[in-house]
Amino acid sequence: MKNVKARAVFSPESSFQATTINRRELHPHDVLIEIKYSGICHSDIHHARSEWKDEHYPLVPGHEIAGFVVQVGSEVTKFKVGDRVGVGCMIDSCGECENCRKGEEQYCLKGNTLTYADVDKYGEHTQGGYSTHIVVTEDFVLRIPDGIELDAAAPLLCAGITTYSPLNHWGAGPGKKVAVVGLGGLGHMAVKIANAMGAEVTVLSQSLRKKDDGLQLGASYYYATSDPKTFEDLAGSFDIIINTVSANIKVDAYLSLLKLDGALINVGAPVEPLSFNVFSLLSQRRSFSGSMIGGIRETQEMLDFCAEHHIAPEIEVVSADQIDEAYERVLASDVRYRFVIDISTM
Ligand code: NAP
Ligand code: ZN
Repeated sequence: MKNVKARAVFSPESSFQATTINRRELHPHDVLIEIKYSGICHSDIHHARSEWKDEHYPLVPGHEIAGFVVQVGSEVTKFKVGDRVGVGCMIDSCGECENCRKGEEQYCLKGNTLTYADVDKYGEHTQGGYSTHIVVTEDFVLRIPDGIELDAAAPLLCAGITTYSPLNHWGAGPGKKVAVVGLGGLGHMAVKIANAMGAEVTVLSQSLRKKDDGLQLGASYYYATSDPKTFEDLAGSFDIIINTVSANIKVDAYLSLLKLDGALINVGAPVEPLSFNVFSLLSQRRSFSGSMIGGIRETQEMLDFCAEHHIAPEIEVVSADQIDEAYERVLASDVRYRFVIDISTM
């Protein structure tokens, strides 16, 4: 057992405190990773504050992890000491069910093991990347391509794959019109990736405050959703809408922006249920769907795609003492566009 430094919350109202947590001794297929950078995802806030469910405390968030392999178990074949690696939102799954066999471990029928806020197969509460080290079975470790800096790689492990996967699944590409709702951590990656896939991208943001950024990131058009005229002008325009908003949206208004057979895909995970009028779907054979992160194979594919297309997140590196402040800025939509913790400040 290895005792390592971490930052944890001790209750839903707690600020972050320095603490230590235990990482297990390596099993034959385990890899010990020294974490260099850890991204701050809005999901970390939902978990830290028990917004989705009552969590177990102390809780160490962090599922956008980038670092180096420092030790490998006796039977590890995929990695060696010194490799640049990443870990995303899950660290294990059953490996046997229909979905795992398809490489869709995020939809494991027995339930995958989340990187934090979960219980692993050894009965231990999982703790995430706001810490100096993590032990993960090799099948859930990703290789970070040389072309991507470690700090920028971190957010790809959640924000990158969560947007790449639905864009890939619903066929974003040349000739397709994609709208991205919310220009935050996920949203800005959706813009970059959809653009690199060859789609025409429109940002739908609450205001025009970030318009210059949005166009710079690869969007062709940028509209404010606070302006009712936006919904009149864009009616029936899009093949795919990726909704990244962490709060409730007026689903019917966004469905009305879809063409025949268009799909609104929710990746945002608001606390309260969303509701909509079914006629918004019937009228143009539209779909309303959801998507959760992506499988391990697809996550590696996304990392390689980003390296090949020279895509990386826009990041602001913060110290371990600035996590609470970063959370407040995320909540105020004042993030451009992902905070990443420099773990050396821990
Ligand atoms: P984020 O950086 O806070 O971005 C969310 C964006 O939504 C904000 O920047 C803002 O963009 C917009 N927004 C926020 N509040 C809004 C409101 N009340 N009304 C309308 N727009 C609002 O968060 P994130 O890290 O990208 O995560 C977004 C959501 O996805 C969270 O709920 C998170 O838990 C979820 N998530 C899901 C998955 C998955 O697997 N499905 C994975 C990761 C995260 P503008 O300022 O441009 O309007
Ligand atoms: Zn996340």
